[in-house]
Amino acid sequence: MSGLHHGRRERGRCGSWRETVRVVDVFLNAEVATMNNALPSAQAFAVLGDRFAAVGSNEELRRWAKRESKVVDLGGRTVVPGFIESHSHPSLYALTLLQADCRTPPCRTVAEVKERLKAMAEALGAGRWVRGWGYDDTLIAERRHLKRTDLDDAVPANPVLVSHVSGHLAYANSLALAIAGIGSGTPQPLGGEIQRDEQGVPTGLLKEHAAQELVLEHIPPYSTSELKDALRRTMSVYHHAGITSSHDAAVGYFREGRQVFQAYGELEEEGGLDLRIYLNVVEELYRDLQNRGTDTRFGSGLFRLGCVKLFQDGSIQTLTAALEEPYQNAPGRRGDLIHTQEALDELVEHYHSRGIQVAVHANGDRAIESTLRALERAQRLHPRDNARHLIIHCQLASRDQIRRMKRLGVIPSFFVNHVYYWGDRHVALFLGPERAACIDPLGTAVEEGLIFTLHSDLPVTPVAPLFSMHCAVNRRTREGMVLGPGERISPVEALRAYTVHGAYCSFEEHTKGSIEVGKAADFAVLSENPLRVAPERIREIKVLRTVLGGRTVYEAG
Ligand SMILES: [Zn+2]
Repeated sequence: MSGLHHGRRERGRCGSWRETVRVVDVFLNAEVATMNNALPSAQAFAVLGDRFAAVGSNEELRRWAKRESKVVDLGGRTVVPGFIESHSHPSLYALTLLQADCRTPPCRTVAEVKERLKAMAEALGAGRWVRGWGYDDTLIAERRHLKRTDLDDAVPANPVLVSHVSGHLAYANSLALAIAGIGSGTPQPLGGEIQRDEQGVPTGLLKEHAAQELVLEHIPPYSTSELKDALRRTMSVYHHAGITSSHDAAVGYFREGRQVFQAYGELEEEGGLDLRIYLNVVEELYRDLQNRGTDTRFGSGLFRLGCVKLFQDGSIQTLTAALEEPYQNAPGRRGDLIHTQEALDELVEHYHSRGIQVAVHANGDRAIESTLRALERAQRLHPRDNARHLIIHCQLASRDQIRRMKRLGVIPSFFVNHVYYWGDRHVALFLGPERAACIDPLGTAVEEGLIFTLHSDLPVTPVAPLFSMHCAVNRRTREGMVLGPGERISPVEALRAYTVHGAYCSFEEHTKGSIEVGKAADFAVLSENPLRVAPERIREIKVLRTVLGGRTVYEAG
């Protein structure tokens, strides 16, 4: 049987294709997991320009190679389509490279966090804003939030803002609060909270974007050139992980939204954009773009304006995800919906009726329910084929909700890394064993035939698709417990979530996501085959080479 698929005749449309040009890269002796159902595995393939030109057996591809061809022997290594991160924040991560790292690890104690902030203040000089990121109250030795007084003690002469690892909380020092005019009399912002002590004095803790924004609006944004430089370093982190495409999942969440557009645009123009970016733009900025008449389909294959991003709750580990039943460790609290049902209905309808894809952040079952109601209503009022709306994180979805997603054509992107990073704390603290076992119900989603993706949410957890696939297949927590064994999925389902389904959720399944003639030549060479190694070893697989549009952007030393 000939497995050779070639497209000399049918690909006349594609710009890089020339009947007469025959400089082809031929890759032989590989285990190619194509993720193309018509030809699931192959030994070899050819790349012409930025596309796959042929896929088949060694014998067939040897014949295909011409004298001018460059032949690469992959020595039995595995090749998979370039990974697609369907929810991470490359531009937010880039910003963190310009800030003090307050994560655990590296910081074990509040004192170590203070040391880092102090060092940054000294490097910047008095008066300049000091920013930190990644603080985790549930991992730091003291198991508590930062206080205004901690920050004052470390950095008295600079305004300070430190963001929580979830992104849903931040901590300000006294100078930052004073600059923002936040005092005991400041009214609570809609959808956020300024935490106060018994005397009514702000503690420094700011909850949700609305409260953080009160301080953020006083911080001078980073310059485009600072951002571009940080984005270059960020792209290389993605390449090390075998990633060739990523959503930039909340552009405009921080004030640098416009600089992000500018930076990506300039990088693209300079030929320095080495990652396909699908922008998810927060509602405020999106509306502004719409008002200016910006076409949401602009951009080249590398940089596209995608969906509008809405938020309907926070995160489980900060007790701000909206749950049906109260948190185990905070009886009486079940988190708040960010929008009233009417407000969310209206927002979703506004974009849905204009043919725009909507992505809604919803972690808790109550937020997912509210999101589904809004999507069902919009679909009822303005029936649309193929809307492909997204529910982001989607951690506590019930089987009934998954069925409704399937009916609506909604694609959840599950934050499966939670199983590893927070699974133990979900059992012991936030959710209790029963609900914790049901987070990220991938097995149920597979059973119901739902298309879904997986993600890392960088900078919330490290970007590493093989690790996220490992979490999906094994569901082992950091302490080694298997959380909800019934929700484990097969390696091929996990790989699908990071390749073909990743392409589907941005309407790009015809141009990328599988190793198939005519599609973008995006692929990763791996040390072993994730579909064949023992499941508990998937995380050990190394990325050896990452190729974007036929160009090697990373090669292991
Ligand atoms: Zn996110």
